[in-house]
Amino acid sequence: MDNCIFCKIAAGTIPSKLIYEDADLIAFHDINPAAPVHLLIVPRAHIDTLAGCDDRQTAMLGKMLLLAPKLAQEHGCGYVAGAGETATGGFKTLVNTGPDGGQEVYHLHMHVIGGSRPWRGQR
Ligand code: 5GP
Ligand code: ZN
Repeated sequence: MDNCIFCKIAAGTIPSKLIYEDADLIAFHDINPAAPVHLLIVPRAHIDTLAGCDDRQTAMLGKMLLLAPKLAQEHGCGYVAGAGETATGGFKTLVNTGPDGGQEVYHLHMHVIGGSRPWRGQR
């Protein structure tokens, strides 16, 4: 897609703080972080939105989801499965979909947001 900002980031034609890449996915820091850790996981292929996905994207969507805890761990907001709710760490994953879902960039992406529960106003 010629006019898509995330396609341009995936192609390397506009810069980003890239933290991960493989044949299917890239990940980088959100330019306007809503929390101490705010990462975006983005497929290289242009797909407008989660609502445009079908069975062909099952594996890629699984990869996106499984990458989230790895990147969270690497950026200091990981969570150890089974550690319980009194443990520290953890993150939020978010896929905004459509206007009422708050989607601003129409290239599928998953937010990984972490660090001191910013969405609750707690520190
Ligand atoms: P959405 O609202 O579509 O779910 O989220 C889009 C996200 O992309 C926003 O959090 C916004 O800050 C981020 N974003 C928009 N343009 C750029 C950019 O050029 N570079 C980076 N790194 N993030 C961007
Ligand atoms: Zn795109």
